[in-house]
Amino acid sequence: MLRFCMIIAFFSGLIMTFSGCVTVTDNAPRFERLFCWGAPWSEQQAQRYASAGVTDIMVKNHNQYLLAKKYGMTPYWQCFTPAGPHRQVMTPEEEKYHDYINGKDLDKKLSKAERSKILDQRRIATNHRYGGEMVRDFDTLNTEIACFNSDTDFSLSAQRLDTLLKNVPADVAGMYIDYIGYMNHNGCYCQTCLAQYQQYLADRKLADSSENKTAFYRHKIVEYYNKITGYVKSKYPHFKFVVHIYPDFKNDPLYGNRTPADYCGQTVSWYFKFTPEKIRQYTQFVVNRARDHHNFVQGLPFIGLNPQSTSSLAHKTPQEVEEELQIILASGGRTLLVCSGSAILKDGYYEVFKKYCTPKR
Ligand SMILES: [Zn+2]
Repeated sequence: MLRFCMIIAFFSGLIMTFSGCVTVTDNAPRFERLFCWGAPWSEQQAQRYASAGVTDIMVKNHNQYLLAKKYGMTPYWQCFTPAGPHRQVMTPEEEKYHDYINGKDLDKKLSKAERSKILDQRRIATNHRYGGEMVRDFDTLNTEIACFNSDTDFSLSAQRLDTLLKNVPADVAGMYIDYIGYMNHNGCYCQTCLAQYQQYLADRKLADSSENKTAFYRHKIVEYYNKITGYVKSKYPHFKFVVHIYPDFKNDPLYGNRTPADYCGQTVSWYFKFTPEKIRQYTQFVVNRARDHHNFVQGLPFIGLNPQSTSSLAHKTPQEVEEELQIILASGGRTLLVCSGSAILKDGYYEVFKKYCTPKR
């Protein structure tokens, strides 16, 4: 079907070109929805987001909610991240690496600039990927995540959700969710998690193996998503959830369609660029396999974008972003999720998003 549509699009483009009315580009497909991982912090920003084609946006307070509504964007209230009684536990080697890329050994008196310079050097030298797919034997986040598996009665998570939703306007579309995953891209090795793993094996009469470990830790992520969405929907039945599947889960990067995310953002190009072929393959999976497990899920191709070229987080030029958008469109993507959202507002990038994400005039 996709191939058929592309052939039709090609010929209709050709005909229009020969007639001399419009260019092939005018007939090219565009994105129908642009989800922004960023909030409107001023009226000027809200206006610029909307004119770049942003249709769906996170809001963190009542003023931002009003701005989103004023400029015709669908607001989602706040972003939930995991809660637990302690942070996740990694292997000693991973803990050591985490300390190193965070400069735990550095002199506290170093200036912020000196400290950043050293951390950037360390992260570049070790191929640190900030939670995206790793390119070394192991990698960890530079940040920390609470062990949500240890919030066994869901009380801490419920408390956090209640706080986030305390002053929620009645007609927001839902909320954003982030950081449901593991700091080391594999699993947490605290006593609670290890005991739960043994119970999981015993209940299913399974042996301890790397495949079963992957299945267990993935199961715990999906279970946590189910608890979050179930709890919120018990109070706000109309809520929709915009999710970025993050950090990367090493042994099954595209597991996101197992989660009950209404809008499931899965990375098709990280801040560190993926090859065109990989962007193509991932986009096709994210879009075409979105409903393998739930019939209400819409898969959102996610791209990471850093407009600054001065840190260890990779950089993309506006032209490189345009090439990625073209690949995603050619692979069947009609929705897009972008982080950082504020990059959409920068000169050069703004024009690219406007070109591909606003309705044809
Ligand atoms: Zn744990």
